[in-house]
Amino acid sequence: MNNSILEKDRLNTKEWESICRKCAKCCYEKIDLGCGEIVYTSEPCVYLDTVTRMCKIYENRHEIEPDCLKLTEDLIREINWMPPDCAYLEYLSQKDTLQTVRAIERSKRGKQGKTRRF
Ligand code: SF4
Repeated sequence: MNNSILEKDRLNTKEWESICRKCAKCCYEKIDLGCGEIVYTSEPCVYLDTVTRMCKIYENRHEIEPDCLKLTEDLIREINWMPPDCAYLEYLSQKDTLQTVRAIERSKRGKQGKTRRF
């Protein structure tokens, strides 16, 4: 994953969409069995080109198919049905880890600064 993308608080649309691997795994019907268990079926969305794994109506998908969700960082954090190897889950995991490391570094620098004053 591109480190410059991980360092940014906000991504523009092009940067956000560049994270997706275009595997299309999220474009198959899913069954929620409850208790957090999701089963992916082999039934693709009717608008998925299963050869190229690209959406045939990508630019207008939300107008044509209202059930198609716009994937955002907040939504990805909220839903439990993205495939475990989805690039967005990997991105968020790496981003959270990086932010934790940065917070620890800032905290250590703050403590070092206070120590020097005494
Ligand atoms: S599962 Fe994730 S990486 Fe694959 S197409 Fe869907 S959003 Fe992109």
